[in-house]
Amino acid sequence: MSVDSEFAFELRVCQWAEREWSPRRADSAVVVARQLGTKYRRWDTVVLECDPDGLRRRAAFGPEAFDSDLLHVLEHAPAEWAFYRDALPDPGYPWRYVREAVHAAADRDAVETRKRGNRIEIRRRRPYPDWVRRIVAIENKPDLTASAARDLAGQLERDVALGLADEVWVATAATGERVEPILLADFPAAVGVLTVDADSGAAEAVWEPRTLDVASPGTRILERPEDDASAARFEYADPEWKAEKRQVIAERAYGRGWRAYAGTMRPDCRHFQLRAEASGVVPYCAAKERVPTQSECRGSCPEFEPEPPAWRAKGWPVEGGPGKGIKRLLDRRRRRTRPGLPEE
Ligand code: SF4
Repeated sequence: MSVDSEFAFELRVCQWAEREWSPRRADSAVVVARQLGTKYRRWDTVVLECDPDGLRRRAAFGPEAFDSDLLHVLEHAPAEWAFYRDALPDPGYPWRYVREAVHAAADRDAVETRKRGNRIEIRRRRPYPDWVRRIVAIENKPDLTASAARDLAGQLERDVALGLADEVWVATAATGERVEPILLADFPAAVGVLTVDADSGAAEAVWEPRTLDVASPGTRILERPEDDASAARFEYADPEWKAEKRQVIAERAYGRGWRAYAGTMRPDCRHFQLRAEASGVVPYCAAKERVPTQSECRGSCPEFEPEPPAWRAKGWPVEGGPGKGIKRLLDRRRRRTRPGLPEE
């Protein structure tokens, strides 16, 4: 099947990465997610290389991601009961937000709380593990024309200067011809280039990336003028800020994965199918005869038709109707790459 859209291409990249990614340390477990990042930058595909034991211990905290406020609590929660303000470092924002995060963490069974007088005490249930070894960011550009390459170059320069991910790649569709070196000339040399064959699901590295220094200070490029006369504007990103952002990105990747499309698309439409391709399972629209995009596959789609009630009533072909069955199937597959999570 040819690539119908950036979305369809992205799914192929995620499938390939989940199946074939070679982590730096061979014993690392791989977790793949799509469309996530920080307020500064959204990456198309994120690959986490994880400590396998840490990943299993992370699962004890449940399938949902923890945001930065909750991570602040989890990472510093003491082994013995203590007043939360004594136990946790000053967050740099009002303590009442920390109190809310403590309660939210307790609601998710991640910490224990008790009241002593009018003081809330906190104790951890289990240590929050150090489970992420490396973060790899992949920008997907199936159709790498000269102007697309130029547009992308500035974004990639920012990624390299900030050094939030350990590696940055561009993935483009394999065309049977070699990628013209002129297209890559604008990219920073530290960025890797991958060609992905959407039919076979195979990929090949045509340029290896350099490992970025995530533990050192980074630079946020705020503005880079086109002319030579004006000055660029930069901002310094300290290693602590980077470490915190990396942990938040990793948590989001853990919670979200790359199959979350079922949540926004319409698997309850009678035309919606999951199809097994050589590259893996992809969503397919029988009315459009291709992979629908996420913006097409909505209730406002002119070809949307609800699945017939009989499909649900008879529990056919899967209990709860195809729509619910598809969501369950995708969720099961996501859980499989997060060992230690209970099967739903
Ligand atoms: S007809 Fe529209 S809503 Fe139904 S599966 Fe196709 S794109 Fe999605």
